[in-house]
Amino acid sequence: MSEVNKERVLQALRMVFDPDKERDIVSLGMVSGLQVKDGHVAFAIEVEPERGPRLEPLRKAAEKAVWALDGVLTANVALTAERPAAKAAPPRSESQQGSARQGSGGHPPLLPGVRAIIAVASGKGGVGKSTTAVNLALALKALGLRVGLLDADVYGPSIPRLMGIKGKPTSADGRRLQPMENYGIKCMSMGFLVDEETPVVWRGPMVMSALEQMMRDVNWGELDVLVVDMPPGTGDTQLTMSQRVPLAGAVIVSTPQDIALADARKGLAMFRKVEVPLLGIVENMSYFLCPDNGKRYNIFGHGGAKDEADRQNVPFLGEIPLDIDIRETSDSGRPIVVSQPEGAHAQAYLAIARKVWAQVEARLNDAHQQGPRIIVQ
Ligand code: ADP
Repeated sequence: MSEVNKERVLQALRMVFDPDKERDIVSLGMVSGLQVKDGHVAFAIEVEPERGPRLEPLRKAAEKAVWALDGVLTANVALTAERPAAKAAPPRSESQQGSARQGSGGHPPLLPGVRAIIAVASGKGGVGKSTTAVNLALALKALGLRVGLLDADVYGPSIPRLMGIKGKPTSADGRRLQPMENYGIKCMSMGFLVDEETPVVWRGPMVMSALEQMMRDVNWGELDVLVVDMPPGTGDTQLTMSQRVPLAGAVIVSTPQDIALADARKGLAMFRKVEVPLLGIVENMSYFLCPDNGKRYNIFGHGGAKDEADRQNVPFLGEIPLDIDIRETSDSGRPIVVSQPEGAHAQAYLAIARKVWAQVEARLNDAHQQGPRIIVQ
């Protein structure tokens, strides 16, 4: 992959024109605070305060121009409203740039009331990622946390079914949607917004804006943790999420077979690359306890995820057996953590939730001590 550098970014931005001044934003001196490091690109576009609200398309165009460059992993572009040009502005300090990015200028944080965002991901579909995301969210709730659940699988949303939620979200003010809620968890999913039977042909940018809307235009309120059920694989959604919000970490779900683990490994590598902390691996469908004879069968092999976690030096979070109760409760919208809270399976999810939250909390405390963290260095 070719290296992206400041020159290449500026060259690309010379093709982005200010709509009012009909010159490019580089020669107009509007690009400030450009930082490029290991494929992460961040800068601000300085505009007069009165033009700020109208210039989101310009910001998007600049972001798109950067994305088009080879080797770009994240692009963080903020509009900042400078003081009137008449007064010579003092040099902008790092912290000013940081707060501008979090910005009153034109790029507010997507999820301001959420303390931690956790992505639940898998290398491929069908390994039980959504089932794990739902039960993990409920287990975090059982630990006393305020929890939300975002279904980032725009192509194949399954949260409405797994959480037993029907109907469409409403809006009190005509602008922001109220999340749907069940079992004390606020949820948002494309499945609430489009009919299950209607095939939606999504193009890349539409997926990205749908995702952004499900974060920005939803009244999530104050949450300790938002669990995000990612689509399978390592595509645009994963990149967008790691680029647009500060992920506290990723949980990777895998079944024990080599083939599933090979895909999980790609997921691990991707999150590493975009510097999202790896909270660990869950081995799902780890073994089968036969209810008739109490014998244990390792249908897909067993222990592969633990070995992989050791090899990759990431925590192993626990194993969940292949069990008919997990499947039935999950598929009927009564996840096992709430329908059989005293059972062994719920306890296994609770143990996973404790391990996950302990890590997230430690990072939150660290970040608190170090002051605000800027996602893109
Ligand atoms: P993914 O999100 O990875 O595509 P799902 O969570 O939708 O996977 O699970 C796929 C199917 O496997 C569902 O029918 C689900 O109920 C079932 N399933 C998931 N985990 C288990 C498990 N531990 N035991 C039995 N069935 C499971």
